Amino acid sequence: MERWDVVVVGGGPAGAACAAAARQADPAARVLVLDRAHFPRDKVCGDGIAPEAFDVLEGLGIDRAVLTAGYPAVERLRLRGPGGASVERAMHRPAHVVPRVVLDERLLTAALTSGAEFRRHTVRRLDVHPTHVDVDGVLEATVVVGADGAESVVRRMAGIPRNRPTRTAIAIRGYAPEPAQGTGVQLITTTAQRWPAYAWSFPLGDGTANVGYGELVSSGITRGGLLAGLERLLPGVAPVGVKGHRLPLSNGRPRQPDGRLLLAGDAASLINPLTGEGIFYAVLSGMLAGRAAVRGATAGAAYRRALRARLGRHLAHSSLAAGLSRWPRLMDAAFRAAGQDQRIFDDVVHLGLADGRLTARTLAAAVRALR
Ligand SMILES: Cc1cc2nc3c(=O)[nH]c(=O)nc-3n(C[C@H](O)[C@H](O)[C@H](O)COP(=O)(O)OP(=O)(O)OC[C@H]3O[C@@H](n4cnc5c(N)ncnc54)[C@H](O)[C@@H]3O)c2cc1C
Repeated sequence: MERWDVVVVGGGPAGAACAAAARQADPAARVLVLDRAHFPRDKVCGDGIAPEAFDVLEGLGIDRAVLTAGYPAVERLRLRGPGGASVERAMHRPAHVVPRVVLDERLLTAALTSGAEFRRHTVRRLDVHPTHVDVDGVLEATVVVGADGAESVVRRMAGIPRNRPTRTAIAIRGYAPEPAQGTGVQLITTTAQRWPAYAWSFPLGDGTANVGYGELVSSGITRGGLLAGLERLLPGVAPVGVKGHRLPLSNGRPRQPDGRLLLAGDAASLINPLTGEGIFYAVLSGMLAGRAAVRGATAGAAYRRALRARLGRHLAHSSLAAGLSRWPRLMDAAFRAAGQDQRIFDDVVHLGLADGRLTARTLAAAVRALR
């Protein structure tokens, strides 16, 4: 049977970062990326990419200018709270909006220049042995990394159940002319109705935007309800190419087990529970998983430690903030405080899009604004 050092299941952001990192950590490692899709392929997403995601990728030798070519930076973000409090400011560092059908192919192509190989293959079964993992009876891998997204087969094979419905969101997205409420800015708007729920409009720079709407799965929302929610928050928007997908949130993430099966990105439930952002966490966890994967039998434990060291504090803070955000008045108070102080705005953005903390100054200002 064919033998590989690292088999990465999934060629999205987590898988691409993982493959590049494994080759960077051990240039002699034989690394194979498997994906059921032929690239370029679409992925249901808001297409908004935090600058910190590009920082991680640049550490792997993947150039942000190549990934974002043709898509201008978006400097400003407008947030609207469930009670109507609204703030618009320049972000500390601009974000980008690149359709995933474009981004993921560029990213995978860049990652494969590191010397990893790609094969189209749908993984269905893994058998873990003391010395290796058998992949569908056709490949043997020293370590397998599950970067296979929200419905991860690798996770199921590792015996880890899905997130609970209260820890999973579902959202639709489509493409439309930029809505009048948010021209040239990233817009995230929420409503007290069906809270917690939000809509977004992320401009592509050509007069169109990625627009979408999401809620928790536990709300029992249907596709019709998601479309109605989008119309309620962005009236008159008429998207094409509307598709839905689940978002496993990081406040329901499982423990990474020891051993030869690693989980990264959505497969590891690493989506920010405040904002639904997942690309930064996918490339960061993919990078850490790739570095650990070349260590063989001890990979799982090494990866768990690395993830905790790099993201543990942030994950605790974003989970706490997600719990507090269930109180809509506090969200409005935080947005009012962000409107009064750029540093609080920056803290809120950093917590929602990258590895920031729920800072004391944000909490104190939100409590003051509440009064
Ligand atoms: C509606 C919506 C809006 C979002 N908006 C944003 C946003 O604006 N910004 C942001 O940062 N995040 C956003 N997210 C989250 C983001 O899309 C994910 O966090 C991100 O795609 C995770 O990357 P990944 O590499 O872990 O998984 P994916 O991107 O899902 O990639 C998984 C890959 O695995 C492959 N695969 C799956 N099963 C198998 C199998 N059995 N065998 C082989 N291959 C397999 C798939 O074909 C796919 O290519 C959004 C999510 C949704 C649903």
